Amino acid sequence: MSTSNPVNLLDFDVDGLVAWFAGLGEKPFRARQVMRWMHHEGCDDFDAMTDVAKSLRAKLKEIAVIRPPVPVRDSISIDGTRKWLLDVGNANAVETVFIPETNRGTLCVSSQAGCALDCAFCSTGKQGFNRNLSAAEIIGQLWLANKLLGAARGDPNEQAADLEAGEKDNGRIISNVVMMGMGEPLANFDNVVTALRLMLDDHAYGLSRRRVTVSTSGIVPAMDRLRDECPVALAVSLHASNDALRDRLVPINQKYPLRELMAACQRYLERAPRDFVTFEYVMLDGVNDSDAHARELVALVRDVPCKFNLIPFNPFPNSGFLRSPAERIRRFAGILIDAGIVTTTRKTRGDDVDAACGQLAGQVQDKTRRVVRLKQEMEIRR
Ligand code: SAH
Ligand code: SF4
Repeated sequence: MSTSNPVNLLDFDVDGLVAWFAGLGEKPFRARQVMRWMHHEGCDDFDAMTDVAKSLRAKLKEIAVIRPPVPVRDSISIDGTRKWLLDVGNANAVETVFIPETNRGTLCVSSQAGCALDCAFCSTGKQGFNRNLSAAEIIGQLWLANKLLGAARGDPNEQAADLEAGEKDNGRIISNVVMMGMGEPLANFDNVVTALRLMLDDHAYGLSRRRVTVSTSGIVPAMDRLRDECPVALAVSLHASNDALRDRLVPINQKYPLRELMAACQRYLERAPRDFVTFEYVMLDGVNDSDAHARELVALVRDVPCKFNLIPFNPFPNSGFLRSPAERIRRFAGILIDAGIVTTTRKTRGDDVDAACGQLAGQVQDKTRRVVRLKQEMEIRR
């Protein structure tokens, strides 16, 4: 008989699982063995863990589960971008997006259902905050995507197919993870760090710190903690060149203004795996996209080694903003580039499946309709 409230083993990083196993009187190597089954092989069935002692398997079946979030929709864009809508209970849904590129595959992972920070141009912010995702729900997005993309090592036929298709980055279909889905990762610090540790650990996903990126709207004390506890590549959502404008676009700026944010970026770089911060900058027509704004930005980031990633605004109903014209974005980029700042403009991917930045909540915005729709979809899948 299994317990009614089993422990989800996807909630543990390696140290956590070792400690939990110790509580069962089991040795650390057993925990690492189970880790590898779960995360290398994509295994969610204790019976299949053939080199784990039968008595331990029986015990685990009684008290534990390996339970990733449940996908309720799987959409593939004509450009190959794939988006999963995941049910996280109580009619909440989050999204995970896989973006294949020539030399890499990037998974965009969500950290919260909704977001409390209410940035003016973000549809996730507009739906308000529902709840933090658990570590299992965060790492479960990578677990699930690996499995659904045929990248988990469990299936030898899929492995062969991957080889034929020309594997990417030493066999990894997902070579990079960006915490740029729904939610503010640093507002769900502990669960996000547990998931990050699993992404980095060789017993789980073994990604390099340089290939795992946390994107934050600028929660300064949490940036310092991340630097101390689990430094990975950092992206900061800047979006404005002065405090008056940023106060309006990214309200957390009222608490941690630009001078503090720039100082936090400098402190982060002391221990970061990359020697620059990526500043994300959404291009909003007539709001933050003038030549004067670009020049003000150059002065603002003078002491912070950085790159800029300009994101053409992705519209959603009643946003009140428009995307800057392509020519304006080019001129804006030109000013940054002329000042010696590496600047790229993000290609909009997955438009046809609403998978672009800031659109992720588009389908689930209306809470009442969302409940009905989700239920219907889940019934269809049953
Ligand atoms: N909460 C984190 C990470 C998630 S959002 C953060 O804010 O950094 C990922 C990126 O998409 C952020 O830079 C965010 O500001 C941007 N974004 C949000 N809404 C957008 C929209 N409608 N169009 C383009 N980019 C958007
Ligand atoms: Fe939250 Fe990021 Fe959206 Fe701001 S941009 S509301 S921090 S998800």
